[in-house]
Amino acid sequence: HTTLSKSAALFERAQAVMPGGCSRNTILRKPHPIYAERGAGCHVYDVEGVRRTDFANNVASLIHGHAPPAIVAAVGEQLRKGTAFTVGTEAEIAYAEHMCGRNPAFEKIRFVNSGTEAVMASLKAARAFTRRPKIAKVEGAYHGLYDYAEVSQTAKPENWGQPEHPSSVAVSRGTPRRALDDVVVIPFNDVERALAILDGNRDQLACVLVDLLPHRIGVIPAAKDFVRALRRWTEQNGALLVFDEVITFRSNVGGAQQWYDVQPDITALGKMIGGGFPVGGIAGRAEVMEVMNPLNGPAPFPLYGTFSANPVTMIAGHTAMELYDREAVDRLNALGDRARSLIGEAIRTADVPACVTGRGSMFRIHLSAEGPENYRQAYLSPDRAALLSKFVGHLFEGGLLVVETGTGFLSTAMSEQDVDDMAALVLDALRKIKPCL
Ligand code: PMP
Repeated sequence: HTTLSKSAALFERAQAVMPGGCSRNTILRKPHPIYAERGAGCHVYDVEGVRRTDFANNVASLIHGHAPPAIVAAVGEQLRKGTAFTVGTEAEIAYAEHMCGRNPAFEKIRFVNSGTEAVMASLKAARAFTRRPKIAKVEGAYHGLYDYAEVSQTAKPENWGQPEHPSSVAVSRGTPRRALDDVVVIPFNDVERALAILDGNRDQLACVLVDLLPHRIGVIPAAKDFVRALRRWTEQNGALLVFDEVITFRSNVGGAQQWYDVQPDITALGKMIGGGFPVGGIAGRAEVMEVMNPLNGPAPFPLYGTFSANPVTMIAGHTAMELYDREAVDRLNALGDRARSLIGEAIRTADVPACVTGRGSMFRIHLSAEGPENYRQAYLSPDRAALLSKFVGHLFEGGLLVVETGTGFLSTAMSEQDVDDMAALVLDALRKIKPCL
């Protein structure tokens, strides 16, 4: 008779009341999830008392790590004043002013409660503005759960379709065929094929949706000529360009788009702009954002949301973003450079076929000599996926949390020492996995 660990016992309770034992599949791991007791800075302590260094940061949403004192203080004060009202707060206005000041492409902004909602609102705004039904998205890119945004990341290669014409294939069973028909799928970083597909849907497309460093495509940057081509095509054909910066906003004061000489019409935001609380945002050209304005008659796109712009999220987000200024961004991106460079060194020292991708404060470790160039190459067969999960398991045993895809997101709570220690653990884990590679 062995007694269950606290985490194992919690998972048994969880499975009795939640499908899969959780509300978000992200927390699942084998043999059972771990449960956090608390977090402080770049560390998470689980209910068994084990401390791990957190390079997952709630999938890129904690830019300052756990319980940063300035946010704890600001939120604590707001909690005593109330958390949500059916009237406005100045906190919302002040934060909107701050966000619009971070990027000239953000002429107007509205807040919502998640990245899913931000992408959904962006697509609906684009449809309302252009009066067109279809949206285009990149094959395999993750943009949350909205039916139209969810299309084409399938675990089954037999459903991909021809490379010249990737299929609009459902993720969730029962997705209406009509929704799929209104999604045009383009390959990542393939200008010629992408434009040919877009041309075939000219006059029907409301927008093209792109993530500049898509997680599901291996955290590889969108090519400058790809982004430029999409900007030119959308401009010439009356469609909007939408960037999903839910993850990538951390790249720069005004998002990863500032690495490109291109401005989108709309940017979908989320994660880190909530300072640790649920959030989404939709920012863009004033003329486009007007579709949400109900002051001069019914809004073409009426946007509601009970908890949207609640003062707790606004205060937390505003405090977090004030602290994430030019200097903080540059310091964090330099730490990211150090992380990728040390991981590269570890790969050479271990002498294994692996590589590291990413940019800014993001990295991804691939257990193959070359990184992928698109979704089809990023796809891992069940064998390769099992290997990656074994590798991530070694990191975990060594005291490191990364996203299960082998992706790490840095936080300002980290020091060079934390990054160096991470790279040492990566070297250990690579050596352990070497016989299987
Ligand atoms: N877009 C991207 C690029 C994301 O990574 C995510 C979440 N991982 C979303 C949208 C959806 O955000 P949320 O989970 O807050 O709904």
